Amino acid sequence: MAAAPEGGPDAPVRSLRRALLGRGLMAAGALALGPRFLESLATGAAIDDATLVHAPARVTAPPIISRQEWGADESLRTGTRSFAPVTKAIVHHTATLTEEPDPGARVRAIYRYHVQGSGWSDIGYNFLIDQSGLIYEGRWARDYGSDETHGGEDEDGLGVLGAHAYGFNRGSVGVALLGTYTSADATATDAALEALTALLSWKLGTRGIDPHGSSGYAKADGSIVRFPNLCGHRDVLTTGCPGDGLGRRLAEVRTAVAATIASRPVEPRSVEPRSVEPSAGQEQGREADDPENEPKKKRRERRRDQDD
Ligand SMILES: [Zn+2]
Repeated sequence: MAAAPEGGPDAPVRSLRRALLGRGLMAAGALALGPRFLESLATGAAIDDATLVHAPARVTAPPIISRQEWGADESLRTGTRSFAPVTKAIVHHTATLTEEPDPGARVRAIYRYHVQGSGWSDIGYNFLIDQSGLIYEGRWARDYGSDETHGGEDEDGLGVLGAHAYGFNRGSVGVALLGTYTSADATATDAALEALTALLSWKLGTRGIDPHGSSGYAKADGSIVRFPNLCGHRDVLTTGCPGDGLGRRLAEVRTAVAATIASRPVEPRSVEPRSVEPSAGQEQGREADDPENEPKKKRRERRRDQDD
């Protein structure tokens, strides 16, 4: 699976080309994107697979409860952030009460736990959703203007890196439903699933990402893994999250997201993969040193009561 550099400046690109050929992607059209596309893979960033990307649709953002509105203590977090093009959506459960009596208090508690208990710079998730379908802004991206959506993006639409899936935080939007859906008969509310659909329709639709598709994802170490564009935490890592009860609903969510996107007008512009700044070394170093990217097995002792 790994596409490890073999020496020489072009080696990562060559090995990536082979890796793509092995998956039939080059024959399907990725070759036409040329070296710029391949170099974007070599930077350790998430990638767009043009063969699976549709034209961007005009999907608007759903209402999002801002950090100020849910009472985030902004003195807890740091101000340092990284951003990357969003190509994946990863769904989680919080493994907390499913019938949550005070969702806002729970979001504040998770935030405090991620910072003070896990040592992260901020709450790990990009968004959280409660059982009544309210969507909460997660990781802080920047200060927004009064008319702006609190969407976890910089002014160019790059997504802020969260800490929700070790090794897969770059270029993925991590959305957690409050609750525990471990058992197959645990049921997320219709309101929560509708909110998840609205949020992901906006995130994926405006970027032309097919919710039914799969695409390659370049990890910081240069390896490429392929997984669904809209998936559960357990689809990328060994974890039960988001549980059988929510995981079995993701097929429905994909279908609903696809239907929402299909119902919206298409933006009158062509799709072109975004280039990524060649900061692979920096990012790799950062990820290796960042406690937020500490392998789960190492931090398990410190995190007993919550599966992110
Ligand atoms: Zn998770």
